[in-house]
Amino acid sequence: MNLMVQFDYAVIGGGIAGISVAAELATAHRVLVLEREPHLAYHTTGRSAAIYSETYGNSIICALTSASRAFFEKPPEGFSAQPLLRPRACLYIGRPDQAGQMDSAIADSQRGLCPLELLHKTAAYGLVPALRPGYVAVAALERNSADIDVHALHHGFQRLAMSRGAEIRRSAELMTLERSGSHWDIGVGADRYQAEVLVNAAGAWADDVGRQVGAGALGVTPMRRTMIVVDPPIDANSSDWPFVIDIGAELYFKPEGRKLLVSPADETPSPPCDAQPDELDIALCVDRLERALDISVARIDRSWAGLRSFCADRTPAVGFDKDVPGFFWLVGQGGYGIQTSPALSRVAAALARGQHLPPEMQDFGIDVSALDPVRLQPTNTT
Ligand SMILES: Cc1cc2nc3c(=O)[nH]c(=O)nc-3n(C[C@H](O)[C@H](O)[C@H](O)COP(=O)(O)OP(=O)(O)OC[C@H]3O[C@@H](n4cnc5c(N)ncnc54)[C@H](O)[C@@H]3O)c2cc1C
Repeated sequence: MNLMVQFDYAVIGGGIAGISVAAELATAHRVLVLEREPHLAYHTTGRSAAIYSETYGNSIICALTSASRAFFEKPPEGFSAQPLLRPRACLYIGRPDQAGQMDSAIADSQRGLCPLELLHKTAAYGLVPALRPGYVAVAALERNSADIDVHALHHGFQRLAMSRGAEIRRSAELMTLERSGSHWDIGVGADRYQAEVLVNAAGAWADDVGRQVGAGALGVTPMRRTMIVVDPPIDANSSDWPFVIDIGAELYFKPEGRKLLVSPADETPSPPCDAQPDELDIALCVDRLERALDISVARIDRSWAGLRSFCADRTPAVGFDKDVPGFFWLVGQGGYGIQTSPALSRVAAALARGQHLPPEMQDFGIDVSALDPVRLQPTNTT
């Protein structure tokens, strides 16, 4: 057995949630990250659509996203050699039967920091001329959305964490995890670690880790989402198209180099696993794309699936467990964990240290009680 190494925080999971909170915590603490896979970001973080949108998600998600913009636009010195964001407007479209949904989306967005702009449908056809005539009845635009360089973001957090002294272990299968006095005893293969606080950033496996330490489950549900890459319509100059999203959440697509990245926006509950695309979801995706666009998909270049993990109220759970001392949840980021990671990691690090939110987070109206995992834990009536 190897010697015991001591840390203040041990973070389980090396996706965007684990790595970003490790970078924050490492400013003043000894931090260990444990990732089961040989490669970081192998699961959900490496499979996203890479979109930054301040109108996507509920009000707390929108606030966390808006609070992340300053970091994306001006990360710490040396964080990334290339910009983390590249502007790409977000065009919401609705068929005639979806007009009511567009009205409520616009009304909702007006309560946030980034209101959607109602667009005449001819303007939507101007932005994406390949949309089928008659398909779009209503449209709205978010001008300040962007593509995220997810690799640069994750890599930047990783470098930052390591430069601040964090230790990152890959292929780290947890063998033992026990609370002993005021710390956790953690066994990984022949190695033993101690940490005062255990941060659960295990993505789709969040509830498994909760059960392993006796905290139980918060009801974090992994949902499979499918992506395909296809050629754009012949002769279409698609590289400047906006990100196009169906207001009923049935389809989205955006340019990816000279190709189109497309999703049927599926949400199929799944056990935590190495998610793979289902043939039926791929067929559904092609069918919906061909209905919306003047395109005939002859070949699918690539396809993949990833798990977006949601709490019942579609808001992340961030905070200490109410029953198990030293156990901190950072889970349920759903479809927004990349765009919210700069702000959510700061919020999580403040709460994990028992501190108040940084003022620049308070300015965005982030309500920590809405994030508190206690809301999802049954109260003991005995
Ligand atoms: C198709 C798709 C499109 C998306 N599009 C967007 C988007 O446009 N914008 C956006 O912001 N978000 C998007 N998301 C969501 C975003 O990708 C997730 O919210 C985010 O990646 C979640 O990060 P995570 O670190 O919690 O999870 P993960 O990246 O899955 O990381 C969790 C890690 O924990 C590890 N782990 C689990 N259990 C253990 C254990 N016991 N011991 C050690 N390690 C363990 C896993 O191996 C895994 O690497 C999308 C997701 C999908 C699938």
